[in-house]
Amino acid sequence: MCRPISPRLLRLQRGVIIATDISNTPAFSQLDIAPTIASILGLELPEKDGRAIKAVADWGCKKAALIIVDSLGYDLLIHLLPQMANMNLLSQDGLLLPAKAVSNRTTPAIASILSGLLPEHHQILDKAGAKESSILSLPEIAASAGEVCAVIMEQNGAEVYQGLIQKVYGIKDSLPPHEFDHEACRLTCQALLDRPDLLVSYFIGIDKNAHLGSDLKGIREAALLIDSCIGRIMALADEETLLVICGDHPIHAGRLKRVDEPYCVAMILARGRGRWPE
Ligand SMILES: [Zn+2]
Repeated sequence: MCRPISPRLLRLQRGVIIATDISNTPAFSQLDIAPTIASILGLELPEKDGRAIKAVADWGCKKAALIIVDSLGYDLLIHLLPQMANMNLLSQDGLLLPAKAVSNRTTPAIASILSGLLPEHHQILDKAGAKESSILSLPEIAASAGEVCAVIMEQNGAEVYQGLIQKVYGIKDSLPPHEFDHEACRLTCQALLDRPDLLVSYFIGIDKNAHLGSDLKGIREAALLIDSCIGRIMALADEETLLVICGDHPIHAGRLKRVDEPYCVAMILARGRGRWPE
């Protein structure tokens, strides 16, 4: 599924830009997410290895909700997209891009997504490193600028933000994958009711199923659960909210493990579709 469909990287299709060619290094990276969200929020990152994605600048967004989906590789998403009503809708409304994965491991990849820095620059290689690191990530930078931030993650990741941002929700990663994602969905929807400036949420089901050795059917079920939650999120996030959905790495374990380059994750950028009374 990673083969080029068109010789051009970007193709304009019914007004929607769809990236089609990831046979070479893709033009976009996970490193672009933090600079893009920072520019929406009017913030400056102290250092960054990525660039703000210009296409979203004129969407009129002032807030952002970042949904990190563990193991959401680009080829996996393209394969499942016809069945994923909500991510499909957002892709058609906005942008679906292959983004270069900076690491094949969860913690360094998420640190890059949240800082805009390469792993060799943020040096966060494991959960203990995340707690000790002095590198500022987007939620901390936004909170210190007075923005209301919410983080919904597995317990260890969430603890990093305790006392630094307004709303921190930790979820036990000992929960079965579907229970974890149901809880992540419930807490994300609850947090969105307060209309935070920045929300970061994390879904684990695809990755856990991959590690448990599930076949494509099991992975698809996990992805469909996440897609149904994306539907609730996009109905709660208003049109001034930039939704960013991205993977941390392609599937890195189990039967569907990606073993060849290019290592690309899916990145969807779109506006929320909720309408709130003035
Ligand atoms: Zn991961």
